[in-house]
Amino acid sequence: MGDVLQLGNTRQLLKLYYAGNQMESPNGGFLILLGIRSLEGGSAMGIFECSVSSLRYELPIPKATRTERKTVKDALAAGEEMECPRHGPETPLKRAGKEIVCGSCGIPFAKV
Ligand SMILES: [Zn+2]
Repeated sequence: MGDVLQLGNTRQLLKLYYAGNQMESPNGGFLILLGIRSLEGGSAMGIFECSVSSLRYELPIPKATRTERKTVKDALAAGEEMECPRHGPETPLKRAGKEIVCGSCGIPFAKV
């Protein structure tokens, strides 16, 4: 595997990613999700490939904020369906070991 490049406008790209919209690649074309890697400390890294150049890019996904954790914790306590605070109702959170994780952003939002 070759080098993985950094993306510049991460804030804007994250917004598109959470909304499930197409993300433009810096080389033209768009970014195809290859995978999400959960990182130590609660953040994650998205790995994307450019549809035109096949260059690979990584997009750091920030860890859960206090507000996001509280939203999920409250839903958990109320026995409600838990959805990803970033991806919305289309993306339910899953239990992974002792954590409640979004499969699409790789972020743990609560502990069981
Ligand atoms: Zn998510």
